[in-house]
Amino acid sequence: MTCLKCQHQTCKRFGYFGKRRVQRWRWQSCKVTFREPQLASPLGTIGTSTDAAARALQCLLEGCSIRSTERLTGLNRNTIMRLLIVAGEAAKAKRQLQGVPNAAPQN
Ligand SMILES: [Zn+2]
Repeated sequence: MTCLKCQHQTCKRFGYFGKRRVQRWRWQSCKVTFREPQLASPLGTIGTSTDAAARALQCLLEGCSIRSTERLTGLNRNTIMRLLIVAGEAAKAKRQLQGVPNAAPQN
């Protein structure tokens, strides 16, 4: 990892922060602290790609069953159910999943 400002590469652990105890680091020469960059997934803890999630949701919107969606997309049915929960809660909050193409037809 390289410092964005100074381009030096010596950093050291510098404690934790937050409830999840996220590791904090500090550059040795410029004393700037940071944490490791973490990719925020729009799907929460579901480890599948957003493309596969969009395909699964599209299948379900077309009327496929959970098990046929499982066969078509290769995702496990439990993953599909968790995707449905995430999509349903996002719809309840009236927001589109960030990074997931809009699967629902626009009326
Ligand atoms: Zn620096």
